[in-house]
Amino acid sequence: MTPGIFDTMTFEVLTLFPDIINSYLSESIMKRAIERGAVRVDVYNIRDFTTDKHRQVDDSPYGGGAGMVLKPEPVYNALDYLDRDGLERFKVLLTPDGRVFNQSLAEEYAGDRRRILFIAGRYEGFDERIRAVSDEELSIGDYVLTGGELPALVIIDAVTRLLPGVLGDSRSAEEESFTTGLLDYPQYTRPAEFRGMRVPDVLLGGNHELIRRWRRKEALRHTLQRRPELLQRVNLSEEDNELIREIKEEEE
Ligand code: SAM
Repeated sequence: MTPGIFDTMTFEVLTLFPDIINSYLSESIMKRAIERGAVRVDVYNIRDFTTDKHRQVDDSPYGGGAGMVLKPEPVYNALDYLDRDGLERFKVLLTPDGRVFNQSLAEEYAGDRRRILFIAGRYEGFDERIRAVSDEELSIGDYVLTGGELPALVIIDAVTRLLPGVLGDSRSAEEESFTTGLLDYPQYTRPAEFRGMRVPDVLLGGNHELIRRWRRKEALRHTLQRRPELLQRVNLSEEDNELIREIKEEEE
């Protein structure tokens, strides 16, 4: 089902640092998307679901070793509390060993999911038993960050910009890198010449068909040069194959 503009998508984030999330949401496109009702983001502090006097959320690892581990109880308590509303929520655990998030998954989430909850880890990671609550484990790439807040924001941002009515011009999302299967074509704005670098003449000429062809060719060139493996998943048209031949001839 493709959601309509008034079909609000809800994100929930369990974190130890709600301000990190809220700060990003209070600016620019995310702020406007929330104001327009396209998305709603509810942030919960895991520490609020502790039951001990010291509100402890972490503890040392069994078996010894460096750092601390996020305890299971506060996370399970938070989920018990949220699940009392009986609403269906898709639970995503953020972890470097998860499935790597990409644009196809952003599109899938934007189309299919109405309520996604993220669990942001911290410290050396989380108690292994927390994995049992999640529907999906996601990573945003092969590197280790300090916590799951940036990964949650990366995913929320990438999904939100695909929702109807969020970007001023829906073509903006449709033409972006990865959505078409290709990397984006180069963009220019005024001035027409800057420090000896000129904007390609075709973009100044106003011939829409020539501009379309040039953009497609440059998107193909970019992809061939930077991420050739992406081309294997694109259904290339006859025109694309002709443009690729031209690019190869130009580069010989
Ligand atoms: N010891 C863990 C490991 O080696 O996999 C790393 C823990 S990391 C310092 C703390 C938390 O940050 C993780 O539990 C996870 O929630 C989040 N995190 C860090 N890098 C991430 C990534 N690439 N994708 C998603 N979440 C990440």
